[in-house]
Amino acid sequence: MPDPYYEILLPETYPAGRVCEAETCTTRLSIYNPDDLCARCEKIERAERFEAERLEFLWAELMDRLLEAACV
Ligand SMILES: [Zn+2]
Repeated sequence: MPDPYYEILLPETYPAGRVCEAETCTTRLSIYNPDDLCARCEKIERAERFEAERLEFLWAELMDRLLEAACV
């Protein structure tokens, strides 16, 4: 009897021998990693993106306050 969950449980794999795309990184990527970055670089990139978003938010909030203060 065929198991309907068999295919779902099989993890998708990607070409073996790929290397992390970050400039100074030579980490081999796992065949289970769908990204072009290794786990470490992925984490760094995400942190940088988060920091940029945070700064943008703080900047927008500061501008709001400045505008509010200017209108009083
Ligand atoms: Zn890397």
